[in-house]
Amino acid sequence: MSNENMSSNFIRNIIIEDLENKKHDEIITRFPPEPNGYLHIGHAKSIVLNSGLAEEFKGKFNLRFDDTNPTKEDTEYVESIKEDVKWLGGNWDNIYFASDYFDIMYDKAKLLIKKGLAYVCELTPEEIREYRGTLTEPGKESPYRNRSVEENLDLLERMKNGEFEDGSKVLRAKIDMSSPNINMRDPIIYRIAHATHHNTGDKWCIYPMYDFAHPLEDAIEGITHSICTLEFEDHRPLYDWFVRECEMESTPRQIEFARLNMTNTVMSKRKLKQLVDENIVDGWDDPRMPTVSGLRRRGYTPEAIRNFCMAIGVSKANSLVDSQMLEYFIREDLQLKANAAMAVIKPLKVVITNYPEGQTEMLTVSNNAKNEAAGTREVPFSREIYIEQDDFMEVPVKKYFRLFPGNEVRLMGAYFITCNDVIKDENGNVVELHCTYDPETKSGSGFTGRKVKGTIHWVDAKNARPAEFRLYEPLILDDAPENEGKHFLDQINPNSLEVLEGFIEDTTAKVAKPQDKFQLVRNGFFNVDPKNTTEDKLVFNRIVSLKSSFKINN
Ligand code: ATP
Ligand code: MG
Repeated sequence: MSNENMSSNFIRNIIIEDLENKKHDEIITRFPPEPNGYLHIGHAKSIVLNSGLAEEFKGKFNLRFDDTNPTKEDTEYVESIKEDVKWLGGNWDNIYFASDYFDIMYDKAKLLIKKGLAYVCELTPEEIREYRGTLTEPGKESPYRNRSVEENLDLLERMKNGEFEDGSKVLRAKIDMSSPNINMRDPIIYRIAHATHHNTGDKWCIYPMYDFAHPLEDAIEGITHSICTLEFEDHRPLYDWFVRECEMESTPRQIEFARLNMTNTVMSKRKLKQLVDENIVDGWDDPRMPTVSGLRRRGYTPEAIRNFCMAIGVSKANSLVDSQMLEYFIREDLQLKANAAMAVIKPLKVVITNYPEGQTEMLTVSNNAKNEAAGTREVPFSREIYIEQDDFMEVPVKKYFRLFPGNEVRLMGAYFITCNDVIKDENGNVVELHCTYDPETKSGSGFTGRKVKGTIHWVDAKNARPAEFRLYEPLILDDAPENEGKHFLDQINPNSLEVLEGFIEDTTAKVAKPQDKFQLVRNGFFNVDPKNTTEDKLVFNRIVSLKSSFKINN
């Protein structure tokens, strides 16, 4: 994976400078997910950035599970994350688990105690919060702050041995309760949690806090550039303090960049998990989810996601990316790759009254109008076909060139037909059209006798296969769901999924496999759903419509 289009971002410039100054022989980056949920498009940005930099500068890229919180973590998430990172093309050189470093971390905690830089505190969580002070007021020192080294070592050991209840004690760094940076006011290093860990089982009942664990993990692996999101900027002094005071051999440098935020999208694992747990969506891989697995099931390709990530670039300023930009990149990618097929998603039957009964002919149509190399295919045509309900109007509006009583249109790749009769049910709904065709007008025959203004697509009624078509709209109605105070569950779009029962040409149905992508003529780019497609019925997810007015300005 290369970063060509992230051509000059400030992180890249730092790396170039560090390599020129021989600060490192090679760079090592990492992607450090906590296995407490599935990856989303924001994580993809981080993966593309970190693995891309390692590749570009011939360094290394680690996938490291930041698994320090056993109560929320699970091997299901570990497996899904591996699959997603691999699928995105983030080829890791090493795969690590923070939990493999628990012994080292514990030793480093003891080192801090021995240096007089850590103590066991017995304030309650509320008291700790209270004592911490505010942005404008300094904090207050814990009464346990000046315990002896021996007492602290003994208590930590007993914490580790399981002698104390969850929440009764913590190990804290002894830094500065009046620091203007609240993160430096004696942050917690270890807490007690009698919980089974997905990796270490019941070996531990104390677990390290993120701010302590993360810099050590980076240093242990020799990470040179530890890239994280902006909210960790204020934690950097603490990050550096732990690396220094724990006397780590290697000194990683934390660099912050702006996280990806997207319109009509919530991007926090906590919120996405809520959507899953409350059955608002069909699992983490619901095609409406901004998860990597959801995007994959929707029909996005790794190339499209990578190109999107590179185009949005890397900066220090928070911003909101239009979700249509992601759609732009999948359209670009599928334009040439996805073969065309005819499908009718809202069927209306048409009987061609002058076409011989019992006859079927095969017509040749193009697989991709934009890519001749994609070749042609044969589709059957006979007396009864389906067209889209939207391609007929009994009383046409102005400039309507498709089918209406008395009007002639071209059936794509077939013949001209003229609508003669409209058949209705007892409620007055149009249920069938009777048309006649002109055998002289066969597509490809060189007929120039007259022109028609409208071309519509169709499928042969006898041969076409029933199929389900799922059309999507944004799951979240709000433009900027994460910027405002509103609750995201109040912003759920009730029309985010529309399920239609239609037909697809059998030529394509015969070959379509889960995850195959097609340009369904005039209806959009579709993916064959891998979860709900059965032997009997294909299910298609609309990835995007064929066209959009959205433009990338560059
Ligand atoms: P979330 O807030 O969605 O729960 P997280 O930051 O808690 O995400 P982690 O598993 O800790 O999830 O994230 C792993 C890496 O992905 C981190 O380095 C984090 O900075 C990065 N990351 C997470 N969300 C985004 C985002 N929206 N844009 C860019 N990078 C992100
Ligand atoms: Mg996190």
